[in-house]
Amino acid sequence: MRKNVAIFLLAVLLPSVVLGWLALRNAQEQQIIIERRTAELYQSEVDNAAAGVRAIIDEQRRGFAESVRRLLSTRPPEQLAKNFAPALIDAWPRKAVGFAIGADGRIVSPTAKDAGSNADWKRFLWDNGQFLCNQMAVMVFPVSVDDLNRPDQYRKKASQEQQSVLVMSKKSAAPSVPAPLKEQKSEAPPSERASNALSKEASSPQKNEQDSEKQPDAMVRNVAPQQMLALSDRAAYSQLNWATTGFKALTTEAKEGMVTRFVQDRLEMILWLRPEQAPELIFGCLVEADSLRDLWALALPEPVTAKKGEGPEFIVTLLDDKARAVISAPAGVGGRDWKRPFVASEIGEALPHWEAALYLPHPEQLQESAKKVRRTLYLLIGTALSAIACGGWLVVADARRQLLLAQKKTDFVSNVSHELKTPLTSIRMFAELMQSGRAEPARHAQYLRIIMVESERLTRLINNVLDFARLERRQKQFDRIRFDLHRTLERIWENHELHLRESGFLTSWKDSPEPYPVHGDEDALAQVLVNLLSNAEKYSGAQKEVELHSYIDGETVCVSVLDRGTGVPEGEEQKIFEAFYRAHDSLSSGIQGSGLGLTLAQRHAREHAGEILYQARAGGGSIFTLRLPLLS
Ligand code: ADP
Repeated sequence: MRKNVAIFLLAVLLPSVVLGWLALRNAQEQQIIIERRTAELYQSEVDNAAAGVRAIIDEQRRGFAESVRRLLSTRPPEQLAKNFAPALIDAWPRKAVGFAIGADGRIVSPTAKDAGSNADWKRFLWDNGQFLCNQMAVMVFPVSVDDLNRPDQYRKKASQEQQSVLVMSKKSAAPSVPAPLKEQKSEAPPSERASNALSKEASSPQKNEQDSEKQPDAMVRNVAPQQMLALSDRAAYSQLNWATTGFKALTTEAKEGMVTRFVQDRLEMILWLRPEQAPELIFGCLVEADSLRDLWALALPEPVTAKKGEGPEFIVTLLDDKARAVISAPAGVGGRDWKRPFVASEIGEALPHWEAALYLPHPEQLQESAKKVRRTLYLLIGTALSAIACGGWLVVADARRQLLLAQKKTDFVSNVSHELKTPLTSIRMFAELMQSGRAEPARHAQYLRIIMVESERLTRLINNVLDFARLERRQKQFDRIRFDLHRTLERIWENHELHLRESGFLTSWKDSPEPYPVHGDEDALAQVLVNLLSNAEKYSGAQKEVELHSYIDGETVCVSVLDRGTGVPEGEEQKIFEAFYRAHDSLSSGIQGSGLGLTLAQRHAREHAGEILYQARAGGGSIFTLRLPLLS
């Protein structure tokens, strides 16, 4: 049995569990692939938006350069430089503070004197004067023309590469700062500086070193794209390239470019150009990021309506350096956690800490199909496992039943052999006694009775076995005649009572008035009653008493055999009617039997639309009652 269970576990249950687990894992992997593809698809939307923003800025830069070139075509560079700030106001429609740096590295326009009449110029000089004149190193984000036209993002490069860019930028920036330059300690009045929390945080490498042990030089991004965090363990680190340096170091290599920096809470963009006809001069302008707000809408994608249901498929938003929504497509959507987009892309050094971010109106829908697949799989696996468990349990139960039956049959063979041997021995012994002439003639009658009783016992046993075999093969034929059961009882009782009395039993028969007309096979029913009487005798023990009660109960005739024996052990009242079952084992009780008597008696009773009931008798002993339908 154990072997079978082990085979079942190894051959059926284990492979099923493994298959189920593989199916689940596969479903999970599929879900990850789908999510990754969706993320890639949406990532391209924000990458395009970021590239669009950079393109807009580049357009402004080109517009500025164009205006400078136009101005240069009308007057000599030196002359233009001296009064570039007012000249730019007319030449370029965008709100900007123009400035020019002379060959000596000093600002030639606007001068401090000019600034007296213009508050913007005054603030410009206050904020940027020392930096532009290379007298102070400040934290800036250098932007090359190539960077502005970059269609892809840094994130596509290896993070190590990014690290080396960061390290290089600082190494290369440091020596280019002239010795007298010192990092700017205070560019603004202290009251304004207090509000500059974000730009300070961003410009403080020491702080970021504490934030991140893995990437000491990387700045943490303002937003945490869910998808990036879900698909990789990497934290959302910024890939911005920054340096602490003076203006000169940023402008020596190229002919034109752009620098961005945070001054107080404001993001300022410095566009600059070194004209071909006077490369020692620099013409530049300062544009505040806020002043370009009207242009950003052009960078955002057209709203797409969701396939299912109403509303947009996604929302693309431009976030500023404080992760506040500047503009969204479609417009007018709000009320969400802007810092937790589905995917996001940094704009780059042109707008440091700004991001193009994409939000799903119903991010949970992405998980829903996976959940559905998983639920179905769990259901299928659960059903399959329960079916296997049920099947296994049924097989095991059946095997156990077969095993018990085989055991019972073995017991039966040994029981029947014993039962055959005992009466045969008696018959032979008394026959030999009489034949040898050693027996007193007065006892001959008694010996002959014993021989008769024993042979009847033999016949009964053999009949029982044969009957059982016939019943099993459904070959047993029953007579169907009307007869008086009382008469049958009289006949049986006459024979049996004598034998019981001789064996020392107290006997009595209480009967209600005859007749008891019934319909059926008289011999079969007589066999039932003889079996019950014989059991009463066998299982009587010390108190030898057998009673027969016969009475009519409504439409039923009842015949009870009562004894004062051991009774049937509790819990086995039904089992004693099963084939080969013996509540009193031959070995322990010493009482011989085949375990077939009650089985046959019950089957015969049922064939006659009746039954046999067992009842424990008050005061000890058993009551077996045969109930049969009475004929009217
Ligand atoms: P057996 O040949 O063993 O007597 P039966 O089918 O006649 O087979 O009886 C089945 C079991 O029922 C017996 O083994 C015995 O344990 C129990 N039994 C039957 N009759 C009685 C009784 N009168 N008193 C106590 N137990 C009984």
